[in-house]
Amino acid sequence: MTPWFDPSRVFIGGEWHAPAGCETLPVIDPSTGEEIARIARGSAADIDAAVIAAEQALAGDWGAMPAFQRGRILARLGQIVLDHTDALAEMEARDVGKPLTQARNDVIALARYCEFYAGAADKLHGQTIPFQPGFTVYTLREPHGVTGHIVPWNYPMQIIGRSIGAALATGNACVLKPAEEACLTALAFADLAHMAGLPPGALNVVPGLGAEAGAALTAHPGIRHVSFTGSVATGRKVQAAAAENVVPVTLELGGKSPQLVFADADLDAALPFLVNAGVQNAGQTCSASSRILVERAVYDEVCARMAEAYHALTVGPAMNDLRVGPLISARQKGIVEHYLAMADPAQILARGQLAEGLPDGGHYVAPALIAGIAPDHALAQEEIFGPVQVILPFEDEEDAIRIANGTPYGLVASVWSRDGARQMRLAKRLRAGQVFLNNYGAAGGVELPFGGTGLSGHGREKGFEALYAFTSLKTVAAHHG
Ligand code: NDP
Repeated sequence: MTPWFDPSRVFIGGEWHAPAGCETLPVIDPSTGEEIARIARGSAADIDAAVIAAEQALAGDWGAMPAFQRGRILARLGQIVLDHTDALAEMEARDVGKPLTQARNDVIALARYCEFYAGAADKLHGQTIPFQPGFTVYTLREPHGVTGHIVPWNYPMQIIGRSIGAALATGNACVLKPAEEACLTALAFADLAHMAGLPPGALNVVPGLGAEAGAALTAHPGIRHVSFTGSVATGRKVQAAAAENVVPVTLELGGKSPQLVFADADLDAALPFLVNAGVQNAGQTCSASSRILVERAVYDEVCARMAEAYHALTVGPAMNDLRVGPLISARQKGIVEHYLAMADPAQILARGQLAEGLPDGGHYVAPALIAGIAPDHALAQEEIFGPVQVILPFEDEEDAIRIANGTPYGLVASVWSRDGARQMRLAKRLRAGQVFLNNYGAAGGVELPFGGTGLSGHGREKGFEALYAFTSLKTVAAHHG
C-alpha cells in the first residue's frame, strides 16, 4: 500500500509542506508491527502556520462563499470519497489494523457525513423573535471562525466526517490534528477535499504527537472552538487549554455502555448485537457495549449463547478481514492484558481464538467474555478499550437501572424487551446520550445526535445538533420606531 500523496508532509493552505522541524514519525501496521510509512512530526510552528492559513481562507474565498456552494463542495467530496473506497479502506486497514469490511464501512460513513452536511449547509438559519413595538429582532447563526479538531485512532474517518463535515458546512475553517497512530486517511481526506474544490486553508491537517502538535492546537489563541474525541485524561487537558482562551469545547470521551436484556426479549434478535457491540473494531469503540446486563431468568441462557458466539470469533490480520483484528498498538494490548489479569481464570467464561500463523509483531488479543464479577469491580466500571465484555445478572427493572447507571460514564445504552411501557420508562431513566430500544447503535446513523454525559463528555456531534455546536448565535435588535 503506497498512498498517492507523500504522508511525511503537512497539509496547510491547500499545499503539501515539509514540517517545520523536518522530523518524521513511523507508521506501524498493527497487524505485523512493521513500519509501512513515515508521517510528519508537526510542531507548534506548523499549527501556527495552519491557523494563519485558516484565517486567510475565512478572510478570502471560503469566508465569502454562500452556504449552498459549501454544500456543493461537500457533496462532490462525498462522491470522491466513495470513488476512493478501496484505496481508503486498505489504507485504514493497514494503518490502524481494522478488518477490511469494517474499514469499508468507515469510508461509506465518511461519505454519508459529507452528503448529510452537504444537504444541511443551506438549511441552517436564525429566527425572528416577537418583541416590543418599534423593534424587529432576529438571530443569525455564524461560524466560530477557525476550529480545532483532535481525532483519535479508533474511527479516524467517521470522526473526521462528523466533525469536519459539520464545521465546514457551517463555514468554519478547520485545523485537524489526527492521532499519531492514524494519520493516513486524514491526509488522504484533505487531498480529496482539495480535489473537490475546497478553497486553500479551509481544511489543514497537521499530524504529530498529542503532547506537541495537539497541545499547541488546543492552546492556540486563534482557535475559536475545539472538538475532541479520546480519553478522559486528555479530554481534561483539552478543556483546561480551551478554558484559557475561553472557547467552547465538544468532548466525546468514551464510556462503559450497557445493554439491558429482559426475560421477555427476543433473544435471537438481540444475540448478534450483544456480541458485535463488544468486539467490533476489537472493542476499541467509544460506544462499545462492554457491559451486558441480563435478567436472572434468562441469565444462564444468555451466558451460554454468548459463550458459543465467542468461541466462533477468530482474530487475525486486518487484510484477512476476520471478525476481529489486532489492537492499535503494543501499549493498548498491554492495557487490555492488564485488565484481563484482574479476572480469576474461572471468571473468564469464553474466549475467541487467535488465527494460526499470526505475524509475531502484531498486537493480537483473543476476545474475552467475563462473568461472576460484582458491578463495582474495575472490569465492570472502567473503559478497557479492547475486546472484553462483562456479563452481569439483575433481578428487576430497578436493579437493572441501578447497575446500568452505576458508572461515572453515560454515552449510550440499549434495552432489549417486548414491553413497550418498560422501554419508555427506561429510555427516560437511563443515563446516556443515546438510548436504543431493541437495537444497538442504529447502524451508526449519521443523522442521530451523539455525545455523552458524566465522564463520557459533553456537547453533541452528528445530525443537525452539530450545526448548532459549530455556530455562534447572534441576536440583532433593530429599533425602527
Ligand atoms: P488520547 O485521548 O491521549 O488521544 C486522543 C487524541 O488526543 C489523539 O489525537 C492524541 O494525539 C491527542 N492528544 C494526546 N495528548 C494531547 C494533548 N495534551 N493535547 C491535545 N491533544 C492530545 O488517547 P490514547 O490514544 O492515548 O488512548 C488511551 C485511552 O483513551 C484508550 O485506552 C481509550 O480508553 C481512550 N480512547 C478513547 C477514545 C474514544 O473514542 N472515546 C478514542 C481513543 C482512545 P496522539 O495520539 O498523537 O498522542
